[in-house]
Amino acid sequence: MKLIENWFSERYSDNLQLSFRVKDQLLSVRTDFQRIDLFETFDFGKLLTIDGTVQLTEYDEHIYHEMITMLPFYAFGIKSDSALVIGGGDGGTATGLLSLGFNSVTNVEIDSQVVEVSKKFFPNLSSAFKDKRCNLIIDDGIKYAKNSKNKFDFILVDSTDPEGPAEGLFSVEFYHSIHDALKEGGVAVTQSGSPLYQPKAIKLANSGMKKVFKHVYTYCCFIPTYPSGFWSFTMGSDSDLDFQKDVRHGKYFNSEILHGALKLPQFVRDMIE
Ligand code: SAM
Repeated sequence: MKLIENWFSERYSDNLQLSFRVKDQLLSVRTDFQRIDLFETFDFGKLLTIDGTVQLTEYDEHIYHEMITMLPFYAFGIKSDSALVIGGGDGGTATGLLSLGFNSVTNVEIDSQVVEVSKKFFPNLSSAFKDKRCNLIIDDGIKYAKNSKNKFDFILVDSTDPEGPAEGLFSVEFYHSIHDALKEGGVAVTQSGSPLYQPKAIKLANSGMKKVFKHVYTYCCFIPTYPSGFWSFTMGSDSDLDFQKDVRHGKYFNSEILHGALKLPQFVRDMIE
């Protein structure tokens, strides 16, 4: 009998890809915005991809979601009143914010299909969408941010890469909108890609935010299923850092990561200075 092996590969370039051996493909759908695929892998649990790029796996999603929520929260001592998530249709970021005690989380995702897939296949991750403290809005985050003023303590841009519907989420105009949508001294954070393989994302985010916010910091972590494994986020505020001493830990995040993630390798410093 001949054994058939199935693999999903994310192509980084003509010469480089990351491949997962998969047991099954659970779904493939083309929406008005993008193509969504879902696989059951051998080693990483379920894998969600959009336009062929890894969005999350069950094995390592906690790293991304802890680092986008907990690090800015404890680095700035953000008030846990109201937060806005732009993108994040899988629900992991909103669920993380609720577990940090936020009273109100607005999640603006452009593609309702991402939400539906996540509700069905990642019920724990997407549990925020069943919680009355979370208000899910299906709309373009760029438009939503433009029309919001002085409303949020914390804004999180949990987007796809700077192409297609997410391109405008890396523009200076958008950073002005989120600055104005924040209450005084509020904090914004965006995923800013792999410093090794996606210098465009980190440069756009860091230089764009510096035009708008008084204080901007890029920080890094290790996420094995994202390009190169080495990942960055960039956060900005008109208040400066106010590291909290009483820090809850996650599976990846702890009080040492809170300080250590902000220490950057020289090539990343050169990229953003
Ligand atoms: N953690 C992920 C990563 O870095 O690969 C991102 C996950 S989340 C699934 C990204 C979401 O951003 C997608 O569901 C996509 O539909 C959404 N998105 C892209 N552009 C958007 C926009 N302009 N407004 C709102 N949501 C957007």
